[in-house]
Amino acid sequence: MTIAAQLAEVQARIAVAAQAAGRDPATVKLLAVSKTRPAAAVAEAYAAGQRRFGESRVQELRDKVGPLPGDIEWHLIGQLQANKVRAAVQAAAWIHAVDSAGLLERLGRIAAEEGRQPHILLEINISGEASKSGAGVADAPRLLELALRSPQLDCAGLMTLAPLDAPEPVLRRVFGGLRELRDRLAREFGVALPELSMGMSDDFPAAVREGATLVRIGTAIFGERAAGPPGA
Ligand SMILES: *Cc1c(COP(=O)(O)O)cnc(C)c1O
Repeated sequence: MTIAAQLAEVQARIAVAAQAAGRDPATVKLLAVSKTRPAAAVAEAYAAGQRRFGESRVQELRDKVGPLPGDIEWHLIGQLQANKVRAAVQAAAWIHAVDSAGLLERLGRIAAEEGRQPHILLEINISGEASKSGAGVADAPRLLELALRSPQLDCAGLMTLAPLDAPEPVLRRVFGGLRELRDRLAREFGVALPELSMGMSDDFPAAVREGATLVRIGTAIFGERAAGPPGA
């Protein structure tokens, strides 16, 4: 299947899941995860109408920004190292995996220096798996308070990853847990936190049913990735 056909199929599956949950499919934004794919694959998806793309690594994102159209909305979805924050802030409009006070402080300071106002998402480890990145649920209020203190950062919501190959009830608990945490934080802090970044190729229908507004999908659009280092 072509990239255009796979994109259309993913959009259709998003619509089915949204409608099953009584949601308007237009409230679910598809983020095409283009990590490890050549710029030509991004251009093909762009030609089919896709405008939001996600990359895991700052250098790869920067390499793609140059040759591709300027109206692409770039999202950094991978772990962000302290020494890459400036490059990330310059290249990405959205930064998904913000999970520590130190990173928030640095993002706020560097965004001010660069005159940028990135949208950020706080990554929360809902499942509690030791191997997963993200802040603990108990740390979320402190991180949100810090994020809201920085006028340079638009804290738009929360992000999470579900365990790999998790059965449906676990997916529901993880994705529903992120939504409930968002609802609680929004109430306690009196802010909107509209975005929930959750769901990947293997689990996005469950995420959409639980309220995802940004689904991060690579394989189902671009095909299997070549084997590589984890997180690449
Ligand atoms: C790679 C990646 C995705 C997309 O994964 P697929 O299974 O290819 O859809 C989503 N989110 C994050 C954080 C990723 O690193």
